[in-house]
Amino acid sequence: MRVLIAEDDPVSRRVLQAHLVKWGYDVVVTRNGQEAWDALQADDCPKLAILDWMMPGMDGVEVVRQLRAKTSSTYIYVLLLTAKGQKEDIIAGLEAGADDYLTKPFDAQELQARLRTGRRILDLQSELMVAHEALRKEATHDYLTGVWNRAGILAILERECARMVRTKGKIAVIMADIDHFKAVNDTYGHLAGDDVLREVCRRMQAAVRSYDSIGRYGGEEFIIVLPDSEALSGTQQAERLRNGVGAKPVETAGLSIPVTLSLGVAVMSQNHSDNYQSLLRIADAALYRAKESGRNRTCMGESEVAAPVTPGP
Ligand code: GH3
Ligand code: MG
Ligand code: MG
Ligand code: MG
Repeated sequence: MRVLIAEDDPVSRRVLQAHLVKWGYDVVVTRNGQEAWDALQADDCPKLAILDWMMPGMDGVEVVRQLRAKTSSTYIYVLLLTAKGQKEDIIAGLEAGADDYLTKPFDAQELQARLRTGRRILDLQSELMVAHEALRKEATHDYLTGVWNRAGILAILERECARMVRTKGKIAVIMADIDHFKAVNDTYGHLAGDDVLREVCRRMQAAVRSYDSIGRYGGEEFIIVLPDSEALSGTQQAERLRNGVGAKPVETAGLSIPVTLSLGVAVMSQNHSDNYQSLLRIADAALYRAKESGRNRTCMGESEVAAPVTPGP
């Protein structure tokens, strides 16, 4: 494990470094607070830091204070080394954000034990981060297909609509529904149906731009959010999706399953006044017309939807 040390006194620095190397740490040596602060800015900086309190310029407490003021995803465990043993000083150091402290001259065994505690806390912290990230993904993504789930895509749609209002652009929404999907389940079974859903999502993902978002709105129904889109490109994009998905049958478990999409497109621009729910309603109505008029086709929404009116000055 890597550990950063900041110590202005050359003798103390060498002693500290020698101990750490003996205990198997990979040591990043700095000679004052500024050097320590600079080294701790890197993404791959050591996550464990031993800072001398008293240093010329930026002292150890100041380094911690600035570290804690920074909103960063990685936590740096800080142990302050101090000749100050006064209770008030210790409290000030901990309040600045230090995790632990040791008074100089330190006892080597004690330092070793306290570093182990620091490592344990850092391990717990990174396990928590991983669990948190997994939960966040689970809360916003569809388990079966890996695309955004309903809540995830609606949040994106709302955010993109708000951005569109600020940038005075256009946004398109496509609602896509697999044709006769019930028949796929009935004919080939639910597992094959699941494979079709996954493959349809893969094909849709390959057919959109990197800044477009795909979400599963319900069973076999999807929403695609296309920021910065003109009406024409919204329809073109829907046709790309339709062709990308329907070009060839889905091959799974020795089966060859033909699949087609019906799509409804709605475009919202700044010139009107409404919100993203209207956009969805219009896309849904267009999708309904695509179904009614024979499926495997794209229909454009009746009118451009109104963007929410920005409050005047
Ligand atoms: P239409 O062309 O009018 O859209 O007909 P459809 O058969 O696709 O539509 P319908 O709403 O009648 O049926 C949708 C089917 O999708 C019914 C449901 O069992 C199936 N479905 C929904 N979610 C899943 C899923 O996660 N896996 C599988 N295998 N099937 C699903
Ligand atoms: Mg010093
Ligand atoms: Mg369907
Ligand atoms: Mg449906």
